[in-house]
Amino acid sequence: MAVSKVNFPRLGSYNVAVAHIITKGLDCEYVDAPPITKKTIELGAKYSPDFVCTPFKYQLGGYIEAIEAGADTLIQVGGACRLGYYGELHEQILKDLGYHVKFVNMANANFNKPLTFYEEFKKINPNMNVKKVAQATLLAIKMVEVIDKVEDFIRENVGFEVVEGSFQKLHEDFLDDLKDVSDKKELAIIYKLYMRKFKKLEVKKVKNPLKVGIIGEYYTIMDEYSNHYMEKELAKKGIIIERWMNISNTIFHNYAKEVKQSIKKYARFDMGATAMYTIKKAIDYAKEGCDGIIHVKSFGCTPEIDTMPVLQKISEDYKIPIIYFSFDTQTSDVGINTRIEAFYDMIMMRKEEKEK
Ligand code: SF4
Repeated sequence: MAVSKVNFPRLGSYNVAVAHIITKGLDCEYVDAPPITKKTIELGAKYSPDFVCTPFKYQLGGYIEAIEAGADTLIQVGGACRLGYYGELHEQILKDLGYHVKFVNMANANFNKPLTFYEEFKKINPNMNVKKVAQATLLAIKMVEVIDKVEDFIRENVGFEVVEGSFQKLHEDFLDDLKDVSDKKELAIIYKLYMRKFKKLEVKKVKNPLKVGIIGEYYTIMDEYSNHYMEKELAKKGIIIERWMNISNTIFHNYAKEVKQSIKKYARFDMGATAMYTIKKAIDYAKEGCDGIIHVKSFGCTPEIDTMPVLQKISEDYKIPIIYFSFDTQTSDVGINTRIEAFYDMIMMRKEEKEK
C-alpha cells in the first residue's frame, strides 16, 4: 500500500512536532505547505464564503498549496467554536474544485476519549503501530512545550538584540535541529544547548522598558502572517512582549476551571473559543503592570467580539490602554503600523508621565 502524503495546517512553529507524529509515529510522508504568503490568502479567500472568519481562508489556501505540493491526505482541526464545523466545509469546497484527497477530521476526536484519536489516526495509516504512534505523540507534546518555552524567552529579549535578526536566525536553527530529535534525551540536550545559545546572544536592555501583553484569538495570535508580524514590529521598538496564549497553556494544561472562576466579576458565562483566556490575561497583564494591551482577532470572530465590552471595562477599572486589531484578508500593513506607532507613542508618554 502506498504511503500517505499528509498535510496539517500551518500554525506557528508547531508543524515540526506534527511532522514528527506523521513521519515517526504513523510512518507516512509529511508534506509541509509552503510558508503562508499573499498567494495563500488570495487562494483561500477566492473559494471561501465571504463571511467565514479568516482562519478558514488561510487553511483553505494552505490546503490547496499543500495538494499542489503533493499532499494526498489532509488533517483538519477541531475547536471550541465554528472551527469544529470547518472540516466538512473545507472538504466540500475542495471536492467541488476537483481535488480528490483523503480528509481526516480531528474534530471527531475528543481529548477525554483517547480511543477517538486512534480511530482518526487509523484513517491515515490503517496498518499503524499503536505503540509507535503513542511514543511519537508523547515526544511531540514535549517538543511543543520546549518550543513554547524557547519562544517565551525570545519575546522577552528580542526587542533588545544588538545584532539585528540574531534571535530569528537562532530560532530557525533551533527548529531545524528539532526536526532530527528522536527521543526525550535528545530533546533535553537540544533544549539546553539552544537556551544556552539564546542567553549568550548580545542584548542591550534599557532600564524599565515598556511591556505589552498580547491577547486574543487563537489562530491570529499564533500565526505571525495573520497578525502582520505584530510581535516583530513591537520588538523593533524595544518592547517586552507578554503572550500567554500557546498550545502548552491552552491544550496541555487545562486551566479552564480556574480561569472561569477568576473572571467571574467580568464574565459569568463562557463565551466560547479563547474568550475566557482573553479576559483572564487582560486582568493579569493589568495587574502585572504592563504598559498596554493589544487585542488581536480575525474579522468576524464572534467569541472575541463578545470580549470587547468586557475588555473596555477592564481598561477603565485598571486604567490600562487597550488597542484592538481585527484582521481580514484585505488588512493593510500601513494602517496597522500607523496604529502601532500611535499606541507606542501614547504608552511611552504615559510611562514617562508616571515616572516623573
Ligand atoms: S476563534 Fe474566532 S476566528 Fe478562530 S475559528 Fe473560532 S470564530 Fe473563527
